[in-house]
Amino acid sequence: MKLPSGRNFILFISFDFDAESAEILQGKDPIAISRGRFGPKVGIWKVLNVLDQYGLKTTFFTPGWVIEKYPDVVKSIAEKGHEIALHGYLHERLDELKRQDEEKIFDISERAFMNILSYKPYGFRAPYWRWSENTLDILLSRNYLYDSSLMDSEDPYVLSKKGKRLVVLPIDWRLDDWPYLEAYRSISNKELLDMWIEEIEYAYRRRGYVSITMHPQCIGRGARIMILMNLISKALKLRAWIPRGVDIAKYILYKGSK
Ligand SMILES: [Zn+2]
Repeated sequence: MKLPSGRNFILFISFDFDAESAEILQGKDPIAISRGRFGPKVGIWKVLNVLDQYGLKTTFFTPGWVIEKYPDVVKSIAEKGHEIALHGYLHERLDELKRQDEEKIFDISERAFMNILSYKPYGFRAPYWRWSENTLDILLSRNYLYDSSLMDSEDPYVLSKKGKRLVVLPIDWRLDDWPYLEAYRSISNKELLDMWIEEIEYAYRRRGYVSITMHPQCIGRGARIMILMNLISKALKLRAWIPRGVDIAKYILYKGSK
């Protein structure tokens, strides 16, 4: 992959800023909801602090409902130069919806973006990383620049259909904090960091791309924030480019094609 000069690989660190949206939709109990609420109350501020320390701007995939519920938090993220991208309205599973209901989720979420942030999102990530059979058409018809949900490549690529183009910033379940630290609590902080460092070392060796996904309510809890700090510190030593999703998508579309 062609890389910006002086950089050895692309590291897409992104955050799914779900807050308690998924728990509200599922009608979970107040404690489960409080774990989600930890994101906007505590986790996000720790994450933003770390990004500030390293001078990084990145992407927060955010449900429309979270933008409406926490407008001041979302505005604070955007004012720092981070990108807010779309992540459903109430963290729905799109594969369970009829096309008209899925379109409605995009409508109300884009309205929340316009009302609170005054822009339409460039990027999209499907909640639970599940597309419906209509999601691609919906993204193309609404002129999204990129999606970050598919798992069929290790490097970004351009998907073309009916004369329209969508940049794919691929992801990987293994490079997500949620399954290891929240869903299954199957691994220590140290083990997770070691695995992720191995992945960035591999991306460095092959001069490629790697995407790591975190959730402020997860990585922002206690000493887990050190995983983020140590990861960024290591990546910068290896001269990674760590931009926002929109920057990678534009780069791939206009400069980075093979
Ligand atoms: Zn999510």
